[in-house]
Amino acid sequence: MPPDTLGCRCLFCFLLLALMLAVRPVWADVPRIDVSADSRTSVTHRFAYLIESEGPLTVGQVVKQVDQRPEKLLRPDRSILVQGIGSPPVWLVADVEQPHPDPVLRRIVLGIGWLDRVDMYLLRGDSLIAVATTGDRLPVQQRSGQNRFGQFDHWYETGVTRVLLRVETADPMVVPVSFSSVETSHAQGLHDAIFYSFIYGVVTALLLYNFLLFVGIRQRRYLFYTLYMGAFLAMNLSYTGLGMVAFWPGAVLWQQWAPPLFMFCFMFSGLAFATNFLRIARFRPGLYRAIRTLCLAYLIVFLVMLVANQQSAALLLAFSLVPLFSVLMLYMGVSSWRAGNRAARYFLLGTLASTVGASVTGFSVWGVLPFTWVGFRAVDIGMAIDAVLLVLALADLVRQYQEARQKAEHQAQVDPLTGLNNRRGFLPIARSFWSLAERQEGDICIAILDLDHFKEINDQYGHNTGDAVLRRIAAILNESKRNGDILGRWGGEEFIVALPDTTLDEAHRVTERFRRRVETWVMRERGAEIRVTVSIGVASRLTWHQSLNDLIVVADRQLYRAKSTGRNRVCAGGERHGLSPGSLPS
Ligand code: GH3
Ligand code: MG
Ligand code: MG
Repeated sequence: MPPDTLGCRCLFCFLLLALMLAVRPVWADVPRIDVSADSRTSVTHRFAYLIESEGPLTVGQVVKQVDQRPEKLLRPDRSILVQGIGSPPVWLVADVEQPHPDPVLRRIVLGIGWLDRVDMYLLRGDSLIAVATTGDRLPVQQRSGQNRFGQFDHWYETGVTRVLLRVETADPMVVPVSFSSVETSHAQGLHDAIFYSFIYGVVTALLLYNFLLFVGIRQRRYLFYTLYMGAFLAMNLSYTGLGMVAFWPGAVLWQQWAPPLFMFCFMFSGLAFATNFLRIARFRPGLYRAIRTLCLAYLIVFLVMLVANQQSAALLLAFSLVPLFSVLMLYMGVSSWRAGNRAARYFLLGTLASTVGASVTGFSVWGVLPFTWVGFRAVDIGMAIDAVLLVLALADLVRQYQEARQKAEHQAQVDPLTGLNNRRGFLPIARSFWSLAERQEGDICIAILDLDHFKEINDQYGHNTGDAVLRRIAAILNESKRNGDILGRWGGEEFIVALPDTTLDEAHRVTERFRRRVETWVMRERGAEIRVTVSIGVASRLTWHQSLNDLIVVADRQLYRAKSTGRNRVCAGGERHGLSPGSLPS
């Protein structure tokens, strides 16, 4: 090949490439959809659209515009069309092509339940061959397909059928369109039905369970949980269109107001639950007042809009509260958790799940994330997880209360200085041993121990040293008692021991060991040696004692005897030791 020919060819290729890069493709024609397409997901990007910005258009005007000025047609840049709240009506246009001779049944579904009105027009050439209307401004019976979604079935003949869809809504203009066989659409419907049954089942079961708890226990947090989950279900039923199909098929006005109304119910009850559960009024009174004022302000503005029938403004108002609601819920959870509220963990995790779910759905609807089946339903999945975690949070709170009560009960029976039973802790145990001894005609002894001249230790070395001595003596007594003996702090510097199944002589020996161990113990304090002694009075049931109290009184008298006869000794008594029955209190 001569070099000049090669040069010419290279130049030609280069020019062609430059031309291809420089010229952006223009939709000089209406996009085509192959009739064999059978998709579960949205194919809105296969349509072109135009916005009805200058007043309503007729089908004829739209067809004319499409044919004469195709450059005015826009193409969605992702698989759904998103125009936000308060968008003018939108026309979607595509040509469905059937290359084969037999007609094919296909279904177009607009998979959003809140679109107000959807009109479909089918044209063959210049003639209108089918018209259908749906949307939640129509009673269910008057909709084509009688479905919660816009749904249009048609047998597509050989050649090209032009599809025009006009969508009008005061709600967010989000338009996912799928083009599929009826079987695929049924499968999708079944999928949805299973999904919503599961979510509604879980949430309804938990809601009823908490409502019954409220009826039984009358604690308001269970009621707020019930209201929060109930409002979620109502909100979901209203915006998915399921509520209208199932419960209010003819209530068109109600269907327009239900989503913003239930959105407020959902957020208000969520805040009521959170503030009650996390006890915000007590720990953050300022925040609590701010939340109440905020809710009241929103409620008043909403009511004004309701009276003025400004549905779209009310919806915007409801959406404006959503980010604030999420931030407040998370903030309350985090600060409560950081303040040491253990149950706030589950609350926080649940709130995180629902916030992440709602964000994924929000981002899917606004086109930040690809529009997928799971992405669109993430809000419901997140909320179901939240419902479960909040029940765990409530259960955790109950457990915390139980533990606190057990701790308080334990503390009420234990002496904090020595760790021994106090009177309240000692007496019930001693009484049960007393009853056992009575039934078995066995013996049981009581010993009361009082430190000698203890006041002097306090006076000489201070109260802290006195405390240290008391703790040490308690430990010595605890180590010296036999297994099964019950030791307690009776008061001040007095201790008490119950010795079950023990005769007076044995008790004498045991308490004599106590006395010796205390006597031989030495504590060094500021160079000095501190020593203490103890006087002990012992009494046995097997005399004539009527009750445990009697026995304690007798032991106390023996202690008095030990004190008055010189201290640092054990006096054991009863009948055999010469104490007369007449000297006991009746
Ligand atoms: P006696 O030999 O007659 O029993 O003389 P005493 O000094 O031991 O008896 P008294 O009843 O006159 O004094 C008891 C002292 O025990 C008075 C009180 O300050 C002291 N005491 C009581 N409870 C505690 C305590 O928990 N810690 C300390 N450090 N001292 C206590
Ligand atoms: Mg005393
Ligand atoms: Mg004393």
